[in-house]
Amino acid sequence: MRRMWGEKPYYSFDYYLKEQFGEKVYKLCLNGGMTCPNRDGKIGFGGCSFCSAGGSGDFSAPAILSIPEQIEFEKKSLQKKVPARKFIAYFQAFTNTYGSVDYLRKIYSQAMDVPDVVAVSVATRPDELDQDVVDLMRELSERKPIWVELGLQTIHEETARNIRRGYELPCYEDALDRLSEAGIPVITHVILGLPGETEEMMLETVRYLNTTKTAGVKLQLLHVLAGTDLAADYEAGKFEVLSEDAYVDLVCKCVGNLSPNLVIHRLTGDGPSDSLIAPKWSTAKMTVLNKIHHRLKTSYIYQGSLLPEGEG
Ligand code: SF4
Repeated sequence: MRRMWGEKPYYSFDYYLKEQFGEKVYKLCLNGGMTCPNRDGKIGFGGCSFCSAGGSGDFSAPAILSIPEQIEFEKKSLQKKVPARKFIAYFQAFTNTYGSVDYLRKIYSQAMDVPDVVAVSVATRPDELDQDVVDLMRELSERKPIWVELGLQTIHEETARNIRRGYELPCYEDALDRLSEAGIPVITHVILGLPGETEEMMLETVRYLNTTKTAGVKLQLLHVLAGTDLAADYEAGKFEVLSEDAYVDLVCKCVGNLSPNLVIHRLTGDGPSDSLIAPKWSTAKMTVLNKIHHRLKTSYIYQGSLLPEGEG
């Protein structure tokens, strides 16, 4: 008997949100006004090789606005397109724990104070999660759910060094353990198509997540963005990006290898079109998603049960 989560053959974030909140919930992308220790010299300069000038927060609201203003701004622009009623305040740009505990308490609380914000999600690095920040999150989670999104990208140390991630795997494991202990769910970001990685290496990263306490995973296609060091390497012919067919095939294998308990927050993504150098096919996000869904359904690759075609 094949397992379905609503219309989808995997445990999607949409499905999880409907379970938790009874309806579709929308993310509001915010900028907490911080930078990143991998950019300002604390850990390194220049940041991760793939990271845009906007600190991987190219779709977030203008940092010049206060958090309540950003939430209002994002809600208004979203509600022009869809009848959204419940929201996740997503601190997306740069490192959203890179501030004093007092400052973090202020901005997270401001987001929680908005009545139709039902949860807060904080994107950060595992090496910027001191215990007092974890304790703050534990305390605030008694008001509303708070999640942490960690940019792991890969478990392979050589790749991590090449992309200048700036920390090693045990650092991620330590942060994940302490957050889980505090009851804070973690969503782990993985990038597919990093230079030098084979398909098996990417599947190793995905299978590794099954052995951890991560609650969810975001699978993200590698985007080459203008102005990044990755773009210079790409233009120098040092690596190639994945074709659409290769990505669809790979992401379906990743889904097949993931535990059915893990919520899949994302299967692809669209980079900012004004700075996206490659792969250009990724701008048609809905087309790519439809191909992934079709492939998953017709090839019988289901989350937690990678089966050969014709079985299942
Ligand atoms: S940790 Fe995040 S914000 Fe910092 S350089 Fe890397 S991707 Fe960019």
